[in-house]
Amino acid sequence: MAKTVKNYKKDFPIFRQAAVKLPLIYFDSAATSQKPEAVIRAEDEWYRRFNANTHRGVYQLSEIATQLFEDVRQDVARFINAPDSENIVFTKGTTEGINLVAGAWGRVNLKSGDTILLTELDHHANLIPWQVLAQENDLKLRFIPIDKRGRLDLKPLNLLLAGVKLVGFNHISNALGTINPARKIIRAAHRRGAAVILDAAQSVPHMPVDVKKLDPDFFVFSSHKMLGPSGAGVLYIKKSRYAEMSTYQTGGAMIEEVHWKKATYRPGPWKFEAGTQPFAQIYGLSAAIKYLKKIGLDKIQRHERRLAQHAYEKLSKIPEVVIYGPPVKERAGVITFTVKGIHGHDVASLLDNYGIAVRAGHHCTQPLHRKLGVPATVRLSFYIYNTLNEVDYFIKSLKEIIKTWP
Ligand code: PMP
Repeated sequence: MAKTVKNYKKDFPIFRQAAVKLPLIYFDSAATSQKPEAVIRAEDEWYRRFNANTHRGVYQLSEIATQLFEDVRQDVARFINAPDSENIVFTKGTTEGINLVAGAWGRVNLKSGDTILLTELDHHANLIPWQVLAQENDLKLRFIPIDKRGRLDLKPLNLLLAGVKLVGFNHISNALGTINPARKIIRAAHRRGAAVILDAAQSVPHMPVDVKKLDPDFFVFSSHKMLGPSGAGVLYIKKSRYAEMSTYQTGGAMIEEVHWKKATYRPGPWKFEAGTQPFAQIYGLSAAIKYLKKIGLDKIQRHERRLAQHAYEKLSKIPEVVIYGPPVKERAGVITFTVKGIHGHDVASLLDNYGIAVRAGHHCTQPLHRKLGVPATVRLSFYIYNTLNEVDYFIKSLKEIIKTWP
């Protein structure tokens, strides 16, 4: 029989052991997710049984460590339906993945006068690396605008794509929960000869994702947002792009042959994995993938949709609440709102008194918040361990806060 949602919570020790008053209601999974016992155990097991540096020793333990590490590359490839494990580069996270693409691909392939097309929904992680590159290499930045409901306005897409060499955007907005039509944008970009980097930090943890179907050139996500350990992430690179790329970080492990004045580098993903990798965390990531697959990403998405729909309906009925972003059917498990007359930080810290953890601020999207005309919003973001009862308790608490606010 399928597990009930209530049981998933039991898999997460933090809900029994957190260093705060319990019960903890955690609505900040878009910032980072909690970890199931299986992931904590896997990381622990690495240190107890498998710990040795990967790709270094010829002794048995190092060979086992290397094999396990490379097995995770395979697990990740299967999880996102990449053609090959050699498409998968391990990184520290989404931010590092984007910086890697800017450094190793952008620096070499984008020339003075070229244009990069981003969107008004992008996270700072998919904005600042391109700003810096644009300043250094005399590039232009352009943005796909949003409509009033925080959806990308794709009417001018063909015009916006003129002269564009790279398109970067997120699959799901961390700020508004908008699910962007990734396949459509990628297809249009490719028709115009532009490469595409897709920021999947908020999609891979919460919905089935197939890179073969989406067909981006670069694709990035973070382990810590998908129940895995922090300090690890993934960059998918389409095979044909490897030949166009220079190096990112350099040093040990990424080399083939080194002389005093020059060196040759390993092919494929290994060229981009300089130095000792976060192998225990990457091993933990494979446990997270196993856990997510066992539940099923479809089921996870459905569950979060239900929570979001419930929260949206209840919040819509509170006159003081303003909700930002698209209609609930077009969004992921993220609800962003403000309360008239109460600053977002005050709302969040008062909710904390009720044991409810929510994020308040600009959610690493300052230009977007400027456009929305608010300095700070409050964000609820759900995962498999959240329940409808928690949403009801949140609504009740918020109403109390509004009623008692001076
Ligand atoms: N992009 C998006 C859409 C995100 O939500 C985040 C994390 N908030 C990032 C990029 C950056 O991810 P990380 O901090 O794991 O590098």
